[in-house]
Amino acid sequence: MANSSPKLIILFLTTITIFSISPISNALSNCLLTPDLDLRTDPDAIAAASTDYGNLVKRSPRAVLYPSSENDVVELVRLSNECPTPFGIAARGHGHSVRGQAAAHGGVVVDMASLGRDGGRIRVSWEEGLGYYADVGGEQLWIDVLRAGLEHGLAPVSWTDYLYLTVGGTLSNAGISGQSSFYGPQISNVLQLDVITGKGDLVSCSEEMNSELFFAVLGGLGQFGIITRARIVLHKAPTTAKWVRLIYDDFSKFTSDQEHLIMNGFGNGPNYLEGSIITDKSPPNNWRSTSFYSPCHQTKIQSLLKANGGILYSLEFVKYYTNIHEEEVELMMLKDLRFVPGFSFKKDVPLFDFLNRVGSLELEGDNEEEKEEEEEEEEEAAHPWLNLFLPKSQIMDFHAAVILNLIHTQNQTSGPILFYPLNRQKWDDRTSAVVPEDEDIFYTLGLLHSTKFSESHVFEKVNKQILEVCQREGIRIKQYLPHYESKEDWVQHYGSKWNTIQERKQKYDPRMILSPGQRIFTPVMESDF
Ligand code: FAD
Repeated sequence: MANSSPKLIILFLTTITIFSISPISNALSNCLLTPDLDLRTDPDAIAAASTDYGNLVKRSPRAVLYPSSENDVVELVRLSNECPTPFGIAARGHGHSVRGQAAAHGGVVVDMASLGRDGGRIRVSWEEGLGYYADVGGEQLWIDVLRAGLEHGLAPVSWTDYLYLTVGGTLSNAGISGQSSFYGPQISNVLQLDVITGKGDLVSCSEEMNSELFFAVLGGLGQFGIITRARIVLHKAPTTAKWVRLIYDDFSKFTSDQEHLIMNGFGNGPNYLEGSIITDKSPPNNWRSTSFYSPCHQTKIQSLLKANGGILYSLEFVKYYTNIHEEEVELMMLKDLRFVPGFSFKKDVPLFDFLNRVGSLELEGDNEEEKEEEEEEEEEAAHPWLNLFLPKSQIMDFHAAVILNLIHTQNQTSGPILFYPLNRQKWDDRTSAVVPEDEDIFYTLGLLHSTKFSESHVFEKVNKQILEVCQREGIRIKQYLPHYESKEDWVQHYGSKWNTIQERKQKYDPRMILSPGQRIFTPVMESDF
C-alpha cells in the first residue's frame, strides 16, 4: 500500500493552473496541486480521452494522467477523496467501449497503457497447487498475453473474439467468446487481482483473500477498483485449431445443435462454439474473420441465402489438437448435426491465427496518403452496438419478434450478428456480472454494427425498438456491455444483485469517484456530440 506523499500538505492552495497549457477549473486544479504526477491538459490528450471505439458520445475530462507506477494512480484517487468536491476518475484501457464507459466528464482519465510503457508487466510462473499462471498488468492487451504465454507453450483458456482489448477492461465486463461455454468467461479464470479501490487503497485479493473485493471487481464495470494486476490461469497451448462452420436454414435445428455441442464439449466435442446470423445485409465474410470462405463458397452460400428468404444461420466451432496430422482429427460430432447437407466448411490453422482471427482493427497502412484517407474514414465510423443476454426458454419468441421482424427486415448494411448459447454453470454468481437468472443456458446476441456517424441514428432506432419489443413481449433480456439512461434501468438490470452492488460501492468507493462514464451512481449528463 502506498503512503500519502508529503506534497499533499500543499493541497488546496488557491490560484493554481496546472501546466499552463490549458487551465483546469479552479476547484479541480486546487485539488490536483502535485508536481510529481504526469497530468496533461493539452488538446491532444483531452481529445484522445474524450471518445471511444463507439464514436457515439464525446465527454471530455479536465486532465489525463499518464501514470508511471501504481502509486501515481493511488495518489490521484487519494487527491480526489481529499478534494471537497471529489472529481471522477476513469481507467481507460484501450478505449474500446462504445458509449463513453471509460470517460470521466470534467474529471481525470487514467491512461492505463502508460503503466506498461517500460515493459516487463507479463510474468509467466508455475506453483504447486496453482499450476501455470501469468501475472499481467491490468493495462496489457490480450494479444500480448497470448504471445507471452506461447513463448512457454502455454495460453489462457478463455478469450474475447478480439485481442486488442486490455485485461482490466474485459475483466470489468466479463470477457466472453466461443470458449466461455467450456471454460467460463474470462472472469472465471482469474486467480488473484491487485486493485486500487475508490478510497485509494492498493489491495491484493483472491477467492481466499479479501474475497468480497475480488468478486466485486470481476464484472464490476470499473465501479469498485482499478485493476493493476491480474493473475490469469494458463493451460498447455494446443498447436492447431480445426475450425468448422456449418450453415443452417432452420433456427430451431441451429440452436438445438449449438446446445447439444456446448453440453458435450471436451473429449470428442469442441473447445469453442459460436454462431451468427447471415442476412443480405450481414454477409458471411466480415471483419471477424475476413478470409474464412473462398469466393466459391461465398457464392454457394449466397444462392442458399436467396433460396431461404434472405436468412441463414451459421454454427461455428473449433476443435484444438496438437502434433497430429489434420486428417486424423475426428469430428465424430458432425454426424449428429442437422446443417444443410453440403454446407460444412473446414480449415486447419495455427492456434495463434485462430485466436487472432480478427487481427488489429487499428490502421496498418504504410502509405501516408492511404493512411490519411483511412483516418478520415475512421473518424466518420461509429459503432452503435447492442449486446444482449436472453434466457434459452425465450429464444423462439425472440427469433420471431426480433430476428425475423426487426433485424431481418432492416435495409441498412450492418456488421456481424452473433448468436450463441452460454452455460450459466461456468459463471460465478459472486461476481458483479449480470446474466439471466434461473436457466442453465442463456444466449448472447451481438449486433456489431459499423456505420457512418451521420447514419448511426438508424441503428440506434432499431436497437431501441429491440429493447421495447423485448419489454412488451416479456422477454427477460440483460444487456452485456450495458448502457442505460436512468437509475431505474440500472436497478432493473442488476435485479436481485442491486443491494449487493450498492453495498459494494459504499464500501469500496463511497465518494463515487470511479468509472463515472458507466453512469450508474453518477447523475446522467447530457451527451455533447
Ligand atoms: P475501456 O473501454 O478502456 O474501459 C471499459 C470500462 O472498464 C470502463 O468503465 C473503464 O473505466 C473500465 N476499466 C478499464 N480498465 C480498467 C482497469 N484496469 N480496472 C478497472 N476498470 C477498468 N467483449 C467480449 O466480452 N467479447 C468479445 O469478443 C469482444 N469483442 C470486442 C471486439 C471489438 C472490436 C470491440 C471494440 C469490443 C469488444 N468487446 C468484446 C467489448 C470489450 O470487452 C469491452 O468494450 C472492454 O471494455 C474493452 O476493453 P478496453 O480495454 O478497451 O476497456
